[in-house]
Amino acid sequence: MHAPTQDAPSTLENSDEENPFEAMMQRFDMAAELLHLDPNLYKILRHPEKQITVSIPVMMDNGDLEVFTGYRVLYNTSRGPAKGGIRYDLQVTLDEVTALAAWMTWKCAVVDIPFGGAKGGVICDPFKLSKGELERLTRRYTASIIETLGPESDVPAPDVNTNEQVMAWIMDTYSMHHRHTTTAVVTGKPIAIGGSRGRREATGRGVMISVREALRELGMPLHGTRVAVQGFGNVGSVAARLLEREGLTVVAISDKTGGVYNPHGIYIDEALGWVAEHRFLEGFPGGEPITNEELLELDVDVLVPAALENVITRKNAGNIRARVIAEGANGPTTAGADAILEENGVFVVPDILANAGGVTVSYFEWVQNREGYYWTEEVVNQRLHDVMIRSFADVLQYAKTHGVNMRTAAYMLSIDRVAAVHRLRGVYA
Ligand code: NAD
Repeated sequence: MHAPTQDAPSTLENSDEENPFEAMMQRFDMAAELLHLDPNLYKILRHPEKQITVSIPVMMDNGDLEVFTGYRVLYNTSRGPAKGGIRYDLQVTLDEVTALAAWMTWKCAVVDIPFGGAKGGVICDPFKLSKGELERLTRRYTASIIETLGPESDVPAPDVNTNEQVMAWIMDTYSMHHRHTTTAVVTGKPIAIGGSRGRREATGRGVMISVREALRELGMPLHGTRVAVQGFGNVGSVAARLLEREGLTVVAISDKTGGVYNPHGIYIDEALGWVAEHRFLEGFPGGEPITNEELLELDVDVLVPAALENVITRKNAGNIRARVIAEGANGPTTAGADAILEENGVFVVPDILANAGGVTVSYFEWVQNREGYYWTEEVVNQRLHDVMIRSFADVLQYAKTHGVNMRTAAYMLSIDRVAAVHRLRGVYA
């Protein structure tokens, strides 16, 4: 591959292990090289199509005006409208939003849904904003990026610290500007205004299906297989509950207050009940307390990191004892850790495959909005199941054919799919 100087591929040695754009680009470069990707396509795919930065003036409740900074990045739209969440967080940077937008591009291509990739973010601490301030921030941000938004062009969704209510405000603001209700402009909406049944559980359900397929491939049984799940939010708690239902023994769970370990199994419904009452797992009597770091290194068969990025690094990868890792979170494993896990024979179902259930049902939501006809939860779950099974098989087949691990295969497959579309469409000049 011939990359020009300004596009010089990063290497494991010279990169910051925790820089999200670098971490993504290391995987991209490796896959592009193995694919012998055309140098011109390489140049196109290594750059975001569009980066928008906006200043968002918001009248605060105390009468002061504050100006927030927001971003929306469309990484690639060759396969269809850009798709990706919006996060509200003090840590948001343009670099991170761009990395996440690229990730969405590959994720949509892995599960072969007709979307490109995008991401958005606003630098703010949403926990310090009143509901009114949050609504005014959301509406002004939406108005500031309205040229990019639209069912055919750019379709946001919830991400860190945004939720169904924020999506409802985005949908309403867009609809007011366009003088008619346009439900398909965002996904992850409340069901009453066009949300999809099954969306809330979709990512955890996809993780469960990924674990099931991985165990099948490795000839391991479901029953009695021990699993540890880090993160007990939307993804982790649903994955834990569904894995328990499949017959696995969930021996450890955790949230930001710490973890709980019980070698005989934790009753997930009891843990859910505890969290519903106490908000966090702290104090849950279903096992012994452990730290989040200890959870990762437990003697289990399956590990599901479903909380944060960069938790499995060069430092602890060698201590991981699980045979299978299914990445519920985005980017839980650094590029430096990948090689160690591979050497130790750990079967990693990468994030862009394992947690793609969410975006898949977002796609179903968009389809239902455009059809104006709504599916039952059984239909949604069955179609999600079909997509996950097919995608897992596609990646596994790619891994076997090319003699690479599942992560590299997932990147190769998705880059190949995006590149194929670029070749067909050509370069508009
Ligand atoms: P969430 O906010 O519902 O839950 C996050 C969980 O992680 C909570 O239990 C929280 O207590 C825990 N957590 C926070 N900080 C922690 C720490 N320092 N140590 C351990 N645990 C900590 O979020 P979610 O929607 O479940 O998302 C989790 C991950 O999955 C994120 O990486 C997200 O980007 C990714 N993801 C989510 C979806 C989705 O549909 N929700 C889809 C794809 C990927």
